Amino acid sequence: MFSLSLVLGMGVEVFTTIAELRSYVAIHRDERKIGLVPTMGALHQGHFSLINRAAAETDLVIVSIFVNPLQFAPTEDLHQYPRQLEEDTQLCAMLGVDAIFAPTAEEMNLPGDIETQSQTTRIIPPDNMTSVLCGKFRPGHFTGVATIVTKLLHIVQCDRAYFGQKDAQQLAIIRRLVKDLNLPVTIVACPIIREDSGLALSSRNQYLTATEQEQAAQIYRSLQQAQAAFTAGENKSDNLVNIVKENLAAVAAAKIQYIELVDPQTLQPLTKVANRGLLAIAVYFGSTRLIDNILLQQRPPIIAIDGPAGAGKSTVTRRVAQKLGLLYLDTGAMYRAVTWLVMQSGIAIEDEPAVASLVQGVEIQLASPEAANLPTTVKINGTEVTQAIRTPEVTAQVSAIAAQAAVRESLVAMQKQLGKQGGIIAEGRDIGTNVFPNADLKIFLTASVMERARRRSQDLYNQGQQNIDLSQLVRDIQARDYQDSNRTIAPLKKADDAIELITDGLTIEEVVQKIIDYIEFDNY
Ligand code: AMP
Repeated sequence: MFSLSLVLGMGVEVFTTIAELRSYVAIHRDERKIGLVPTMGALHQGHFSLINRAAAETDLVIVSIFVNPLQFAPTEDLHQYPRQLEEDTQLCAMLGVDAIFAPTAEEMNLPGDIETQSQTTRIIPPDNMTSVLCGKFRPGHFTGVATIVTKLLHIVQCDRAYFGQKDAQQLAIIRRLVKDLNLPVTIVACPIIREDSGLALSSRNQYLTATEQEQAAQIYRSLQQAQAAFTAGENKSDNLVNIVKENLAAVAAAKIQYIELVDPQTLQPLTKVANRGLLAIAVYFGSTRLIDNILLQQRPPIIAIDGPAGAGKSTVTRRVAQKLGLLYLDTGAMYRAVTWLVMQSGIAIEDEPAVASLVQGVEIQLASPEAANLPTTVKINGTEVTQAIRTPEVTAQVSAIAAQAAVRESLVAMQKQLGKQGGIIAEGRDIGTNVFPNADLKIFLTASVMERARRRSQDLYNQGQQNIDLSQLVRDIQARDYQDSNRTIAPLKKADDAIELITDGLTIEEVVQKIIDYIEFDNY
């Protein structure tokens, strides 16, 4: 079959028909993960960042280039929109893209524009997500976007699809679409790439004169002013919106179409920002319409991971923390540190009043280790105890200490305090229910009893044990689950708002990736 890549002699395949693309995917899929980057072409650094992310996370990267007529109103720039397939192909080749899918409108069975939409089957996102922000001024636009994205996801059958946060409304609508239609794909959000001036990169920047480009940088500066006010304590939408307006008023050529503050996921307007808000704007420079946005966030996220013993919580949590630069709030290490201190001070473990007074005013510091396989660095009352708390002697006593109400109370208070600045991930039995009931994301990490027994038996086998009795392991795990769920102090309980993640059949890396996807989802 004719393929443009042969003509250009480069390492990227270019397909213009659905049949060609499908057979390419069928041949190459094998066990490989496929990443799709949907674009309208005229590629720039913003697109490159999506492509690079896809290349880092998947095995086969496909970029679609399609100027979707269904998302343009008749008055909009469908016919002027830059089309430069040859240049884009070269760029994709340089970036190591495996294949480009560049169909015609006819091939996609989508001739015409928004006005002819009624002649095709459409995917209609919820009204309340399209009646705000850009949707208010571009009727039909997001129906066009949702329809084409659904078609592309069906055609490519990718594992992951990459979208820019620059089009924040599009991103939220696509995430909702994937959820509502149960599409088996992970949507990955990528940060906004900007010029040095702060102007968000866009294929439409080509329409701006040099002076307009300079002036347009004021859009981001004005959003930053609002962010600074937010950080300083201003949380009322009207005031934050006014700050943007006042700052943009300095540029006479800028005609604001809208400035709105909405919830980043539901897109519902906010009158004030509790923890997170999306401040989004559309501005005309002449006939060129530019959009931009900024996420206002009180503090970095708090993530709570709970679940039964043996589900892999601590390994997974440690790795997620390392990958995202979060502090792993190792609550187990805190109990160990107190146990170490009690043992050092010569107090009898069972002397609860003495332990209680020792734990009053104790100071524990946790710091992220250099590598994910190293334990959290721990100091208690200024003494570094990272290694000392891992001895068999401490291990033998730690549950007796952790069962004491006074110890529990002090440490939970300390954990809450440590959590205040955010940027932490913690695991345990009651992190989401008791320690951080307001966590931004709660995950209940679990696996069937059989799976946990199998993993345990594998661990024991790796440690050299033979004659492992799998049915005994099953009974032990069931007994432990029962005990953990019925404890009076800190019982194991799934928070109502926790996402249940069942890890049967998943590798640690797959679980880590799923949690990172949830965290990122939650953060935009
Ligand atoms: P477009 O070609 O404009 O439809 O954009 C294709 C994808 O690239 C969309 O997911 C956009 O959100 C994303 N994108 C466009 N510009 C940027 C940017 N400056 N930074 C990050 N992503 C972007």
